Amino acid sequence: MKSTTSSFKENVHSELQNENLKRVFGGILQVLPLGRAMAMANLPEFDALRDQARDIKNHTLENLDFYLEAFEAKVIEQGGHVHWCETHEEARDTVLKICQTAGAKTVTKGKSMITEEMGLNAHLEANGIEPIETDMGEYIIQLAGETPSHLIGPAFHKSKEEVTELFYEHHKTQRWTEGEDLMAEGRKVLREKYFAADVGITGANFLIAETGSTVIVTNEGNGDLTQTLPKVHIVCASIEKVVPTLEDFSQLIRVLPRSATGQEITAYTTLSTGPRRADDLDGPDEFHVVLLDAGRSKYLGTEVQEVLRCIRCSACLNHCPIYSAIGGHAYGWVYQGPIGAALDPLLLGTMEAAHLPNASTLCGRCEAVCPVRIPIPKILRHWRTEAHRQGFGTVGERSGLAFWAFFARRPWLYSLGAAWMMKALGAWGANRGAFKSLPFLSGWTLSRDMPAPEGETFQSAWKKAQKEGRSA
Ligand code: SF4
Repeated sequence: MKSTTSSFKENVHSELQNENLKRVFGGILQVLPLGRAMAMANLPEFDALRDQARDIKNHTLENLDFYLEAFEAKVIEQGGHVHWCETHEEARDTVLKICQTAGAKTVTKGKSMITEEMGLNAHLEANGIEPIETDMGEYIIQLAGETPSHLIGPAFHKSKEEVTELFYEHHKTQRWTEGEDLMAEGRKVLREKYFAADVGITGANFLIAETGSTVIVTNEGNGDLTQTLPKVHIVCASIEKVVPTLEDFSQLIRVLPRSATGQEITAYTTLSTGPRRADDLDGPDEFHVVLLDAGRSKYLGTEVQEVLRCIRCSACLNHCPIYSAIGGHAYGWVYQGPIGAALDPLLLGTMEAAHLPNASTLCGRCEAVCPVRIPIPKILRHWRTEAHRQGFGTVGERSGLAFWAFFARRPWLYSLGAAWMMKALGAWGANRGAFKSLPFLSGWTLSRDMPAPEGETFQSAWKKAQKEGRSA
């Protein structure tokens, strides 16, 4: 998928004008955090499970080579094939080759962020193979020619009215206005595609080293039809999806849906282990796993390794004040919100994704809700430092930071300067109450007023309160 991440600021300006986005997102982003809160309240050991989930992922990342090879051995033992791919190009060529060998004209696809990363659909189309997304959200954005705006709800940004028009334009039946009718029509169209497909492609939420199984977690059942009906099943997954055992998987699955939608478990949690056996009722004749690195292994053992614990639950997006204001498309690539800001610099390069780590107030809500306890604010600070070191930012921004750093390294001078500044601003704003504009702060005052300070700094208010035995 082509990145527009370097145009993040322009993307944000255009998304902020999108009233439809605010209306649609406003609704769904109220519901998902509530669901998580209720699921947590019903499971007293939820926090302990998060610790275990973090530890399982840490242990796996520290022994990733061992578990990936163990996974490969088990897949081969079950009659499947594993294809190791270093780059997106290699991965999509591998998928294409498998499809061509199978003589495929159409392929059905379950929801998969990795195939978005790889730009798989465009590659298949360019080579005469029609990919059909079967997750209803993915199907909608495929018809619209768009990219996902949310990890688990790719079409969250689309209103019902927009879907009505899209379906009418493409299916040429009736302008359905009720959600149920729209879903029934989508289901009918897709059902025919399942039977016509020569290859089914899915992602994987987990890969289990102990059994060589791949796992998908869905609510629509589309993934199951995608992987069992065609004669060839291809699983595309990145290397950090592996977990050691079934027991580890069963721990992680207790926190994934609860963090995502508040469900105790999704409608379908499906394990695939190898191709169809002689006594199986259904299943594919061939089972392939395409394992993608795309730069991840380079970061093992570094300060940002922890971001590879992510299980793509979307809780950090659902609780992020920045994401809820600008939506997913502004981020300009596959992963959005806090996890996008932490992961995209690793996958796209620090400079291409340099704006994203700045799209955060560092309020810490993302870390507070993450089921595998990824310290996202710490990782964002790391990328900010790295981008600055590599020369990112305008001359004005870099000189402003250098000016600030000069004072920050001399606390006595910083306190003196800040005290003087607060006094001046306090006096200047005494009769106004708030400033409509301030030099160097137009980014703030463009959309809101800046309250006039009372004339003292936080440090002096804090000291005064401590002396008087009260809280500041
Ligand atoms: S970073 Fe944590 S909260 Fe965000 S998607 Fe990944 S696992 Fe979920």
